[in-house]
Amino acid sequence: GVPGIRDVRIMQTAEKTGRRIIAVASGKGGVGKSTVSANLAVALKRLGLNVGLVDADIYGPSQPRLMAAEGVKPEARDKQLIPVATRHGVPMLSMGQLVPGGQAIAWRGPMAAGALGQLVDADWAGMGVDTLVVDMPPGTGDVQLSMIQKHKPAGAVIVSTPQDLALIDATRAIDLFVKAGVPVIGLIENMAGYACPHCGEISDPFGSGGAEAQAKALGLPFLGRIPLAIAIRTASDAGDPPAAGDGPEATAFTDLATRVAA
Ligand code: ADP
Repeated sequence: GVPGIRDVRIMQTAEKTGRRIIAVASGKGGVGKSTVSANLAVALKRLGLNVGLVDADIYGPSQPRLMAAEGVKPEARDKQLIPVATRHGVPMLSMGQLVPGGQAIAWRGPMAAGALGQLVDADWAGMGVDTLVVDMPPGTGDVQLSMIQKHKPAGAVIVSTPQDLALIDATRAIDLFVKAGVPVIGLIENMAGYACPHCGEISDPFGSGGAEAQAKALGLPFLGRIPLAIAIRTASDAGDPPAAGDGPEATAFTDLATRVAA
């Protein structure tokens, strides 16, 4: 039937708040934040959520490569970007798609904030997306502030290696979200434990259990650990997030996604 005034109001509220943002953050670069973002998005999609992926990492946008969408330029309609479909069923947009290929992005705060707005306020609804996984830049800069103040994430997931230094930086990133009232969904320990492909011996190049201990100390949920695995790197480089496959890595990411979605 024809929607009444009350229904219209509910629909408008849903339109405003219906899009749920999960920010994936880290204290520093190189800890696997982009890798975790891509795989978390794919794993959430496999769990049946309507997920989209935003690559807000202005320093090193890597989602076009991770999602096999390199060189694809998003189109725009009525000044609104249309997310790019990927073979993994997760539509995406990246800062890297807003600048000519290979060009370094050296934006000042307001420009980065404007670009973030274009990505987050794209026509996600038109792609059937209601949950956005956002790969944040490392650290606590302009994009973080803009994300927190303007786009109100439903929650933040923090990625760290077990290493002390990475953990100290992660704690700073956590602090930013906590002070702004953004719920921290939990910590993920990446590159935890390395299984030697020759003899099977497990070693811990970056230590082990650090993120779990830190989560406990901060009173935050620990979401799980992803091992350092050559298969994760090679599959990622080939644009095939291991979460889309059926190996042991896929199981690890599915477990992670289950906890994030809970
Ligand atoms: P960040 O986004 O934090 O800068 P990336 O996700 O780009 O980090 O990861 C940095 C490098 O480490 C990439 O080459 C990636 O393939 C690799 N990598 C990330 N996580 C793992 C892992 N669990 N096992 C093996 N390689 C990984």
